[in-house]
Amino acid sequence: MSVIRCLHRRLQKGELSPQELAAHFFSAIQKENPALNAYLHVCEETAKHQAEEAERQFANGSADELTGIPLALKDNLCVQGMPTTCGSRMLEHFSPVYDAAVWEQLSAKGAVLLGKTNMDEFAMGSSTETSFFGPVKNPRNPLLSPGGSSGGSAAAVAAGLAVGALGSDTGGSVRQPAAFCGITGLKPTYGAVSRWGLIAYASSLDQVGPMALCAEDTALLLARISANDSRDDTSRGLSQTADSLREPVTGKRVAILKEMLEGAEPVVVKAVEDTARRLRSLGVEIVEISLPFLQYTAPAYYIIACAEASSNLARYDGLRYGYRSEAPANSFHEFVCRNRQEGFGEEVRRRILMGTYVLSAGHHEQYYQRAKRIQIKLREELEAALEQVDFLLCPVCPKADFPAGETSKAPVTAYQADLCTAAANLSGLPAISVPTAVWENGHPVGVQLMGRAFADGELLHLAYWLETTGTRPPYPETIRVLLDGKEEF
Ligand code: GLN
Repeated sequence: MSVIRCLHRRLQKGELSPQELAAHFFSAIQKENPALNAYLHVCEETAKHQAEEAERQFANGSADELTGIPLALKDNLCVQGMPTTCGSRMLEHFSPVYDAAVWEQLSAKGAVLLGKTNMDEFAMGSSTETSFFGPVKNPRNPLLSPGGSSGGSAAAVAAGLAVGALGSDTGGSVRQPAAFCGITGLKPTYGAVSRWGLIAYASSLDQVGPMALCAEDTALLLARISANDSRDDTSRGLSQTADSLREPVTGKRVAILKEMLEGAEPVVVKAVEDTARRLRSLGVEIVEISLPFLQYTAPAYYIIACAEASSNLARYDGLRYGYRSEAPANSFHEFVCRNRQEGFGEEVRRRILMGTYVLSAGHHEQYYQRAKRIQIKLREELEAALEQVDFLLCPVCPKADFPAGETSKAPVTAYQADLCTAAANLSGLPAISVPTAVWENGHPVGVQLMGRAFADGELLHLAYWLETTGTRPPYPETIRVLLDGKEEF
């Protein structure tokens, strides 16, 4: 069931106050965060004021469903006067002078911010282990990575240290950690949500996405953050609400993407097959399609993402922004080199080098232009497939998990595992990770659904139904005690 709607009812009836609710989460964070490292910054003082404001909204009848709901933000989303580090030494002391559009919208509705969550440095990674501030643990098993790069947000929600959170997704960073932690995560259609105040990684692929314990809560968050914002020319918003999720899905058509099952771990294949079976039982027609072109997804993604990153991250030179080395420099060149060498971690430096290389004279045509052509073809193929069916079904990741520490030893293996998620970023299409299956030893396995551009609501609709039939992971204890014993859908 919707945690947000249940809490909203209790807040409205006065069974709980926004202050009590926030205090409940801060005490859980205090207890559990030292082991998880999901939060980099906790903001109890500002939350007190926000909770008071929420209480006023309930008292004067202007409360929204998100009023008083405690949320977390990935640490690449700007909040005025609050540390926004991007998981990097480069921005360790950066404090923005304005709020990200998404937080402006949520705070206007009276949501309460608990804190900023840990992430891979500049959102580059798949395990939340490239953070300058140390790795995040998976709350379901500390020997596993929570996924990344929004691993702090995913771990916080999965552990019950926030009701919901926002992450950012450039190549899978909302969906893959959602899958590894057993929660729901959506990468909205490119342009559904404003990127104003999101620290850029690869601007043509970046989207802010909601993460929550179920599809209904994800839909509520999306409905509040989608916007047509003049400060982000690529945004046009969505006409999306969370109210029609309960309509039947009978007659919808779903295609399994055959290539994305090849090379996937058996438990991941089983999760997709099981999902298809359960969709059939809901009256959904299942077919299989083959798109061999998908094999170029990961290479094209890494060329385009690194190219854009090398340009976006050029501003961090220690003069305009960012870390400044103590060591004396003899020239401006040496000054900038020192700052960037010491301020960025290994993975970020590697990607800046790759990006600079693929854009350089002589290699531009060979790499960047080719990758852009692949991107166009990929989008055409996926859109053509979505004229035949309503949704595409595939794994979130070919692997069910990453053991802690593994991705740093084999970065290219981790890059290849972005194959299933990066296709939605390259094509701009919306995609959702749904925690439908629980594998034998208790670990959740997510499956991914992709939909037509700006049909994010339809994707959430199908995800909602899938969750109602699924063996989804139980809600964390911190949340269950707030629900008054009602966890059924
Ligand atoms: N794992 C991908 C990468 O490292 C995705 C990152 C993201 O979506 N921010 O680039």
